[in-house]
Amino acid sequence: MNSDYQDIFRTEGPLALALPHYAYRPEQALMAKAVGAALARLTPLIVEAGTGTGKTFAYLIPALLSGRSVIISTGTRTLQDQLFRRDVPMLAKALGLPVKIALLKGRTNYLCRHRLDLATQQGSLLGPERGVTRMLARVSRWAATTKTGDLAELTDLPEQSSLWPSITSTRENCLGQECAQFSRCHVFDARRNAQAADIVVVNHHLLLADLALKEEGFGDLLPGAEAVILDEAHQVPDIAAQFFGQVWSVRQVQVLMRDITAELQAAAIRAPAIVEAVIAVDGYLDRLRFALARGAGRQEWSDLPDAFLDLLPDIENALSDLAVQLENLGGGAGTANCSRRAAHVANTLAALRELSDDSGLRWVETGTTGMTLQFTPFEIAERLREYVESRPCAWVFTSATLAIGEDFSHFAARIGLAEARTLRIDSPFDYANQARLFLPPRMPEPQDAAFADKFIDACAPLLQASGGRAFLLYTSYRGLAEGVRALKARFPEPPFPVLVQGEAPREALLNRFRELGNAVLLATGSFWEGVDVKGDALSIVAIDKLPFAAPDDPLLKARLEGIRRRGGNPFFEYQLPQAVLALKQGVGRLIRDFDDFGVIVIGDPRIRSKAYGRVFLESMPPSPVVSESAVAAQFLSDRLHPRQRAAPADAESLR
Ligand code: SF4
Repeated sequence: MNSDYQDIFRTEGPLALALPHYAYRPEQALMAKAVGAALARLTPLIVEAGTGTGKTFAYLIPALLSGRSVIISTGTRTLQDQLFRRDVPMLAKALGLPVKIALLKGRTNYLCRHRLDLATQQGSLLGPERGVTRMLARVSRWAATTKTGDLAELTDLPEQSSLWPSITSTRENCLGQECAQFSRCHVFDARRNAQAADIVVVNHHLLLADLALKEEGFGDLLPGAEAVILDEAHQVPDIAAQFFGQVWSVRQVQVLMRDITAELQAAAIRAPAIVEAVIAVDGYLDRLRFALARGAGRQEWSDLPDAFLDLLPDIENALSDLAVQLENLGGGAGTANCSRRAAHVANTLAALRELSDDSGLRWVETGTTGMTLQFTPFEIAERLREYVESRPCAWVFTSATLAIGEDFSHFAARIGLAEARTLRIDSPFDYANQARLFLPPRMPEPQDAAFADKFIDACAPLLQASGGRAFLLYTSYRGLAEGVRALKARFPEPPFPVLVQGEAPREALLNRFRELGNAVLLATGSFWEGVDVKGDALSIVAIDKLPFAAPDDPLLKARLEGIRRRGGNPFFEYQLPQAVLALKQGVGRLIRDFDDFGVIVIGDPRIRSKAYGRVFLESMPPSPVVSESAVAAQFLSDRLHPRQRAAPADAESLR
């Protein structure tokens, strides 16, 4: 090992002196050494680091020591904040390395003073949302004092507020150096700070928006970087597919129409033909929404009604005409910008209409915030590979779930780096002693009507033994609803508090779970990853079914179709490995520390009955497998009440 790392990680080293509970972990030092080598040679590296490795420090320390300018990208804002506010400053201090660090968010997080001025002058154009005028006044008062312009400071501005696009900029509507507010611009301030920093912390959305030159990106983040470290990297391929496609949104066009009206009024320009054209476009948008009678959800292009498709060329022509009229107007920077944006949205719509279905999937999404027309490419690997290879820069991808067993080929192929160096580091936790994997016998098939009740029946002895302290994780909202019903039926007066996803925001629910100490939480989706509950409060993680993604999702269909077209096998190349990674994420919620213990329950009988079940089993932590609920329950009792410990309940088999 490089002597720098030996000195840093040793038990009397600077980390041990700076961190009260520091313990030497060989896994952490091993990862740090590999990341250090990638940074020195400017080569790509993919690292799976099991829970408890301490991977954040294992990449931050080489990043700090390298002296290179490094971008660190995270999957969540929580980790982004933790790195910027706590981890990097603390390590830089411990190592005595003065570094400049910056936190950079996407444009839509910063106040745009130009657009705030427009919104304030033209309050009547803000729309009918309740309280929007009062909120705008609140934003204006805050704008007079804020130093960063980061809208997160305004904690009472709801994320869904219609005010948001009126007070933030996009790459398209930003006036740049022509803007009267340029010298006070928060967006450019944040960008300048990032360019002058040694370490810039961003999130994957911003990084990939930047790579793909999309609206919320800045377009110049990467050229100056010598290393990019992506934590929570398992999320990267899906986010990349989102940004490497095309999106045309009704809301984007509505905002443009409002901006045109506001810019004309602000510049006191009378242009009745343009006003009429704006009204016509708004009318088309109403008809477009009306033509899609189906409610919220995703719909493939081939299923769209003619009444919808026939409107698209009319909208495209109206937007192109508007662009020309605005250009000929000879107004200021504001109207010139609107002209460019109108041309851009017309071109995007034209591209979407003409795109070949051989290279991706076209689809429409309707939701509470409006309607979007989208194109998602089948493959993003080639484009990512081009970025990675286009400049000398070290790319490090890390997460607790990237490999299937020992095999990284699924993830490496998705990001286009099949030849990258890979490293898998086992968790330092003692799973053989800390956990059991309980596979209930005689479970019905997942689609059986009795499945939800049988699953709760299988978990019941464990819940009784632990007095709650469980996550019951479901693969669908329907399964969750069935699970809630089945739990109520099995425990009409449950001897533990029951929490259900949706009763409160995610963080509030998790805090409540930690405070209660013996609750049972039933959840799906977002609770499968990024949740960290240490200690006895979480002693059971029970998963109802193997997490294969819903086959009717157009995005999944697009990926499967892409694999089929190049002669691959979608199940083995995509669905199975994705499900294995998702299961690893869910299971990873249980053991978060060296003192933790508990039982993992997997209710789906296919893990044993199907040949592919072996792939799941081989990716599970090395805990003994048990198939009798009494044995699993005894393990929990022994750990929770060690003094009353009876004869040791041992595992039936070791895989
Ligand atoms: S430069 Fe762009 S982001 Fe900054 S205030 Fe002007 S329009 Fe807004």
